[in-house]
Amino acid sequence: MPALEILNRKIVACHKCPRLVEYRAQIARVKRRAYRDSEYWAKPVPGFGDPNARLLLIGLAPGAHGSNRTGRVFTGDGSGEWLYRALHRAGFASQPHATGRDDGLRLDDAFITAAVRCAPPGNKPTPGERERCLPYLVEEFALLAQARVVVTLGRIADDTVHALVKAGGAYHGPRIPFAHLSETAVELPRGRPLTILASYHPSRQNTNTGVLTEPMLDAVFARTRSLIAAEGIPVA
Ligand code: SF4
Repeated sequence: MPALEILNRKIVACHKCPRLVEYRAQIARVKRRAYRDSEYWAKPVPGFGDPNARLLLIGLAPGAHGSNRTGRVFTGDGSGEWLYRALHRAGFASQPHATGRDDGLRLDDAFITAAVRCAPPGNKPTPGERERCLPYLVEEFALLAQARVVVTLGRIADDTVHALVKAGGAYHGPRIPFAHLSETAVELPRGRPLTILASYHPSRQNTNTGVLTEPMLDAVFARTRSLIAAEGIPVA
């Protein structure tokens, strides 16, 4: 069995955070009226995408009625609709819609994961929960050996990736503070070069208020393409 699949099985079976184990199950019992006939996933949500991806996207955590319901990262809520539409426009996703694990969506040269794998109350994981979940991301980074650009969706995802670099990598120059399209060049263990490219999170709060617009998100993936091309690897 491929190593990524083994990791995903380990993630899905995880019960390390009592508060989140209870919350993800409670959401699935109560449900939202619009989804009352759906069976919720109600487990940790693993990463999804191309195992040879050069683009790695990292979000915060599953939405209570989004991926905690569908079982696939960024699938089933407004954030995912925005993200997959943009990935499709940029050529990283086979279709603009993401509705469930069986919708036929395929990612090309991109892999999506999250800093925390279980839906947290109020979308706010505690520092302890973030720390407990970090080893899964460390393992994913090691397995996704082709990744050259990490797009961090929101400040917590950005801080998580920088924590990972501080633990085992090195900076080429200073860490650039979080802002939309800010970039930091780092080196991971075994000399792997990586650019951390920050983006505002495509949450409804940001997209409904114009903090993040579609052209702003498109600019993130246009920049990703040029960073990948600069690595000298043909763009897929
Ligand atoms: S948040 Fe991460 S560490 Fe905590 S229970 Fe879920 S998968 Fe396990």
